[in-house]
Amino acid sequence: MSHSFPSFLRSTSLRTLATAVALTSAGAAAAACSSEATYDSNSTDQGTLNTSTGAPGTTGGLMQTTSAAATTATATVGGTPTTGAATTAGNTTSGTLGSTGTFGGGSFGPTTGAAVTTATVAGAGGMTSTTVTTGSGTTGSDLPPNPSGLPEPGAGGVAQPSGTPGNLVVLPWAGHKGAISYSFDDANSTQINNEQQLMGLGVPFTWYLQTGKQEAGNAFYQRALEAGHELGNHTQSHGSGAADSDVNQAQSFLMSQYSVVGFTMAAPNGSTNNYNNITQQLFILDRGVSDALIGPDDNTNMLNLPSWIPPQGAGTAQFNPKADAAQSQGKWQTVCIHGFTGGSDGAYQPIDLNGFLAHIDYVKEKGDVWIGTMLDVGAYFLGRKAVAAATPTTQGSDQVYTWTLPNVFPPGHYVRVTVDGGTLSQDGEVLPWNDHGFYEVALDVGSLTISP
Ligand SMILES: [Zn+2]
Repeated sequence: MSHSFPSFLRSTSLRTLATAVALTSAGAAAAACSSEATYDSNSTDQGTLNTSTGAPGTTGGLMQTTSAAATTATATVGGTPTTGAATTAGNTTSGTLGSTGTFGGGSFGPTTGAAVTTATVAGAGGMTSTTVTTGSGTTGSDLPPNPSGLPEPGAGGVAQPSGTPGNLVVLPWAGHKGAISYSFDDANSTQINNEQQLMGLGVPFTWYLQTGKQEAGNAFYQRALEAGHELGNHTQSHGSGAADSDVNQAQSFLMSQYSVVGFTMAAPNGSTNNYNNITQQLFILDRGVSDALIGPDDNTNMLNLPSWIPPQGAGTAQFNPKADAAQSQGKWQTVCIHGFTGGSDGAYQPIDLNGFLAHIDYVKEKGDVWIGTMLDVGAYFLGRKAVAAATPTTQGSDQVYTWTLPNVFPPGHYVRVTVDGGTLSQDGEVLPWNDHGFYEVALDVGSLTISP
């Protein structure tokens, strides 16, 4: 197949980033990733970063000034950009395209700087159009108010805080009351064959590909990727005690087939214990199969992330209470699905398609439950902890927060924060207020300044 690599590789500085990403999470695939700069866009929040075509030298460039392996946050003092090269990149990207705002031909958020262009998605057939609400930014900033592209809770119209500068609060779940992530294992045919209905929901899912199966190369997954879904690692051969090489083979497949760096995995048969070592090298989480809700401040074991496997034939009666609980308790529910009833793929505990479709509509109507990929919600969970743990230092009249991200962390992710008042900036760029009630903070930058 022809490779489809992001055109951001045309940018020298971002090519470095891409290489770093690949080196971090795809090992030998790095060579393939960095060797060519003529790829087209391929929007995901994984290895294939969204592309906008900002010319070098434009302003912006807050995001992705560091590689995925960045571990040391650099304090910005006096608003000096930490890296000049990245600042000139202008366009950046990222990725969280996966969010609902990306569906139905809406405009993407994850670009920054003056040279923002709008990416359009070659969506899968059957996509329904979803109106994208984008909070209006405040004056005094050239940045977009929702660079993450994540869905925005509430109706908007929230006034920018104008009280005493400070009291930084990092909102759980991107400002939603709760979160839920749906993952699909094994590249089963009842997933692929129901593309129109599943893609038509207009919300992003995570597809854990068993890459040794022929179905893992089905064009369905490319279309899902382009629509903002996540492709994750479920190993090549699906052995419970498989060697790390089995994970690496799957990782190489994701890169060669989809130009994707997998940032999350699901151990086959829930055998997470056998994958702890490589999980820590390559991924932000390994999804397990023991069910529990995840609180925003929980010390959750990311090497065996809780997940719920619905019983065979499950529909709204089983699914809806899970979303209700996430909402009422302010927590994150992950779901592990293998396929749908009525097929011949041997899916483990297949569920009822119509019941699932009705359930998703039910959750969407809630409005304050974030339906996000394992990667988007997982990165938010970890990023929020990093920023929330930061203690500000006083520099003149400024309060400066610095944080350190985990060793493995996807580039281009954000958290949403509130303050009582003050002006927020990163790398000297004033952050706009999003009138859905938050500022978006770029995690890659590693620091945030609150000024009077
Ligand atoms: Zn499996």
